[in-house]
Amino acid sequence: MTRRNTKYIFVVGGVMSGVGKGVSSSAIAKILQFRGLSVSSVKIDPYVNVDAGTMNPTEHGEVFVLDDGYECDQDMGNYERFLGTSLTRDSYMTTGSIYLKVIQDERALKYKGKCVDVVPHVPLAVIEQIKNAGKVEDVDVVIIEIGGTLGEYQNVLFLEAARILKSNQPKDVISIMVSYLPTPKKIGEMKTKPTQYAIRTMQQSGLSPDIIIGRSSVSVDQKRKEKIAFSSSLGVKDIISAPDLDSIYDIPEVFLDQKLDQTLIDKLHIPKTKLRRDNKARTAWNSFVAASKNQGQEINIAIVGKYFSTGDFVLSDAYISVIEALKYSCYHNSVKPKLHWLDSRDFEGIAGKRKLKGLQKYDGVLIPGGFGTTGIEGKISVIEYVRTKGIPYFGICYGMQLAAIEYARNACGIKDATSYEISPKAQDKVVTIMSEQEELMRKGDYGGSMRLGTYDAVVTKGTWAHKLYKSEIISERHRHRYEVNPEYTDLLQEKGLKISATSPDGLLPEIIELPKTKHPFFVAVQFHPEFKARPLDPHPVFNGFVEACKKNRK
Ligand code: GLN
Repeated sequence: MTRRNTKYIFVVGGVMSGVGKGVSSSAIAKILQFRGLSVSSVKIDPYVNVDAGTMNPTEHGEVFVLDDGYECDQDMGNYERFLGTSLTRDSYMTTGSIYLKVIQDERALKYKGKCVDVVPHVPLAVIEQIKNAGKVEDVDVVIIEIGGTLGEYQNVLFLEAARILKSNQPKDVISIMVSYLPTPKKIGEMKTKPTQYAIRTMQQSGLSPDIIIGRSSVSVDQKRKEKIAFSSSLGVKDIISAPDLDSIYDIPEVFLDQKLDQTLIDKLHIPKTKLRRDNKARTAWNSFVAASKNQGQEINIAIVGKYFSTGDFVLSDAYISVIEALKYSCYHNSVKPKLHWLDSRDFEGIAGKRKLKGLQKYDGVLIPGGFGTTGIEGKISVIEYVRTKGIPYFGICYGMQLAAIEYARNACGIKDATSYEISPKAQDKVVTIMSEQEELMRKGDYGGSMRLGTYDAVVTKGTWAHKLYKSEIISERHRHRYEVNPEYTDLLQEKGLKISATSPDGLLPEIIELPKTKHPFFVAVQFHPEFKARPLDPHPVFNGFVEACKKNRK
């Protein structure tokens, strides 16, 4: 038991996946914060990948990166944004990472010669990690979201961990089932049966829900709440309605209206002495929510990327942190964001060049991170166009590397400038690989081996970067293998590109920009600022970009 007698809330999903367990868990964390409690989150993904780093964004959505460099599911971004804190690698696990830990411990003789079994050793390793996550900040409550759906094979060992922890500490553990309540069009009535089956399925794993959150298109009415309460042996107040809303940030208030905070506190036996109404936190959150609704003029931002062909659904998942960061800065600047997704391949070839003129209608252009060779020439043409036409530009990671390549080609006369990633044998690799990374590549060590996590950078005074950050030392999260080649930085600077931040040893460019006299806003960063943007603390570079777009409004 930790010093604080930490409490644990397991969140599991009933009926189907994608009903919003992550968002419900984040909102639960928020309302507990409003009661003065410290909260941390753990996300469990049942897949065998050791982390999310090797997965394609069209497959699994964005790969989110923590301060300590762990590459994880996008839900971790939701948690950080809702909680307003930074999480650590203890807060994320997969079947792969847990098995790896158990196997490594076995190899290191940590089981002292015992036979190591799937049960109990795997669930016990899960519990150990959950407890560690609580200890990092010594929090009052840890919320653990178990990915997947009740009844599937993949997550049984995690449910078993919840069962064991609950039987060891019955007063400290509860489980919440987030379930789907369909309203079939032809029937025109909300149905509870699938949820009743999910309750049974949960009971088969030795757990029963202490609270059920019903996700549905409209509010769950009293009659249905009663039905669900009856079949789960719960009280009606334990059944919470979570209808579809325009904004996920409204959910905390919807939960508070149903007194979910008090129900959680009672069921977890949290002593009164620990509680306090944090009205300041609630007011700050609600003013953010109000600002998000009360927007002024619309600004049109084009996002140029390549993961767009799979349709809108995947799109928003693959770039969720960028989208959220843009929204926060728009609310902060009292403008309404309108995002336009442009496929960079459309700007390639002669026909593509003709389309560049179409970029004039946007107030700003953003090129986010990316990998590989697809659509690269299209992105470079877009950057040349916005640079020479004075359209605000914000480049992130690959969007910065390609800006350096474009400048080398078109302003420094290095016609064949490219990146190691595109053409490893080329002569003019303006973006290249550092020797440590080359070694990893040679060994085929691709997982968790990029430059990952938080690194400091030193910012030069009198630059855009300094104006935005108002600081000479900044700290940002990275996820990339390649760097702007230090051999070319003198030439780029001589020809007018400003390197306004570097790694502390002065070697690696971290931010590049054009001076205000030459361009209204042309700033590109090697790191991923979107991972640190928070609703109540929008990111300075996103703020600067949105402000420039606002000024440039057509
Ligand atoms: N592909 C580039 C690299 O690995 C950029 C990565 C990114 O945009 N996240 O360096």
